[in-house]
Amino acid sequence: MARFRRFRSVVRVGPVQVGTANDSRGQERHTAACTAPRCGFSAEYDTRSAAELAARTHRCPIR
Ligand SMILES: [Zn+2]
Repeated sequence: MARFRRFRSVVRVGPVQVGTANDSRGQERHTAACTAPRCGFSAEYDTRSAAELAARTHRCPIR
């Protein structure tokens, strides 16, 4: 998962990975990204819990 190499605390929730990274201003950013091919879901959140909630509730369109 090359695109997660700057992330720490990466956890997997179903097909979705949640990782924490610092942006260019040093702010913590929490990203949820689906690993399913052709899904393309990814979003950033201010809090870890929001990112994990999004990961848990993600309904992957690809089956
Ligand atoms: Zn998905």
